[in-house]
Amino acid sequence: MATEPTAPVVIVGGGFGGLYTALALAEVRHHQPILLIEPQERFVFLPLLYELLSHELRSWEVAPRYDTVLAGRGIAWLQDRVTAIDAAERTLTTASGRRLPYSQAVIATGSTTQTFGIPGAAEHCLAFRSLGDVHRLQQLIATLRKRRRPLQRLAVVGAGASGVELACKLVDELDGCAVVELLEQGSMVLPQARSFNREQALLALQRRDVRVRTDTAVHAVGADQLSIGSAGETLPVDGTIWTAGIRAQPPALSAGGDRGSATGRGQLACSTDLRVIGVDNLFAIGDVAQVPDATGDPLPCNAQVAFQQATCLAANLRRAAVGETLQPFSYNDRGEMMSLGRQEASITGGGLTLAGRAAYELRRLAYLTRLPGTGHRLRVAAGWLSDW
Ligand SMILES: Cc1cc2nc3c(=O)[nH]c(=O)nc-3n(C[C@H](O)[C@H](O)[C@H](O)COP(=O)(O)OP(=O)(O)OC[C@H]3O[C@@H](n4cnc5c(N)ncnc54)[C@H](O)[C@@H]3O)c2cc1C
Repeated sequence: MATEPTAPVVIVGGGFGGLYTALALAEVRHHQPILLIEPQERFVFLPLLYELLSHELRSWEVAPRYDTVLAGRGIAWLQDRVTAIDAAERTLTTASGRRLPYSQAVIATGSTTQTFGIPGAAEHCLAFRSLGDVHRLQQLIATLRKRRRPLQRLAVVGAGASGVELACKLVDELDGCAVVELLEQGSMVLPQARSFNREQALLALQRRDVRVRTDTAVHAVGADQLSIGSAGETLPVDGTIWTAGIRAQPPALSAGGDRGSATGRGQLACSTDLRVIGVDNLFAIGDVAQVPDATGDPLPCNAQVAFQQATCLAANLRRAAVGETLQPFSYNDRGEMMSLGRQEASITGGGLTLAGRAAYELRRLAYLTRLPGTGHRLRVAAGWLSDW
C-alpha cells in the first residue's frame, strides 16, 4: 500500500514523551498533520501521583483530560491502543481493528510494572502508576483505618524512588493504623539517588518508623502473606504494593526494532537521534526507548528524559520531513526532586539542596511549570491561589 502524501505523523502513547512531542510539533505554523493515539481519557502527571493519593492535589490537576489539553492545538486524538506497526507498509493496527497510514511514527508507549515472574506477584500486588491504582490504594487505606485491627501491615516492594516516596506517603495516610515495611533485595535504599536526597529520605523513613529491610528478596506473594529473605520467612500482610521494576511495552513490529540488551527492560534500541535502529521513519522516546548518552550508557527512564527528548524529537521529525540531517539528543540532568510524605520533599539540583516544607512547595511549583498546556497550568495555579 503506498503511503499517501497527507498521511499524518502518528504518535503512539500520550504520556510524557508522546504528549509533549505532539504539543511541541504543533507549536509551529503549518505543521504536518498530527495524530495522537492513546487509550486513556486522561494524561497522568506521574510524579504527582503521591500527592493525589494523599489528597494534597485533585485529580483534575494531576490528570487533565486529553480533549481539554489538546483543544484548539491542531492535534487529532484517537482513543485506541496500537497493537502492531508494519514499517514496510507504514501502517499501524489498533485494538479496535483500524489500519492507519503514517508518514512518520513515534513509539511512546512507556513502561509497565515488571514482577520478574515471582509467583503470586502479578495476581496479588497492587501497582502504583495509574488513577485506578491510586483509587484501589485509597480504598485499602480506608479499610485499614476503619478496621483498626492490631498488627495491620502493608509491604512496599522495592526501595527505589517510587517505593520510598510511596512508603512515606502511606504512613502519613494510614495515621498509625498499620505498619509499613519497605523491602529491598539490594543492599541499600535509593542506590541511584543524590546523596543529600538519600540522607533526607532515610530520615523521613526513620521519622515515620517505616521498617526498612535491605538484602531481602521477595520469593512469593500470597493474598495475605509474603515469603521473604534467604530463610524464606513468612511475613503476614494486609496488602503489597509492587514498585520494584519496569519493562517496556512497545506494540509488535513487523520487522526490525531490536530490543536493547543494556537494561534488561525490553526497550527498543535507538540511535542518539531517537530513531529506532534499523526501521525507517520510526522513532521511539521515553521509557520504551533505549537511547545512549554521550558515554554510550543508556539514559535513565524518567520523566525528565522523556520531557527533554520530546523537544528534540519534534525538531527531528520536522527535519526528517524535509530531508535534513537529524540532530542527536543531549540530556541535561537538572537534578532530582523527591516527595517524602505530607508537605515534605527533598531537592538536589541547580546548585541547591533543600528539604522539608520549602522543598515541597518548590517541587510543586517546578511541576506546575511542566504541566501540559498553558490553559491547564493557569487553571491549576488559580486553584492553588484560591486555596491559599
Ligand atoms: C508513580 C510514579 C512516579 C514517578 N515519579 C517520577 C519523578 O518524580 N520524576 C521523574 O523524572 N520520573 C518519575 N517517574 C517516571 C516517569 O513518569 C516516566 O519515566 C515517564 O512517564 C516516561 O514517559 P513515557 O512517555 O515513556 O511513558 P508514560 O508517561 O508512561 O506514557 C505512556 C503512554 O502510552 C500509553 N500506551 C501504552 N501502550 C500503548 C499502546 N499500545 N497504544 C497507545 N498508547 C499506549 C499509555 O496509556 C500512556 O499514556 C515516575 C513514575 C511513576 C510510575
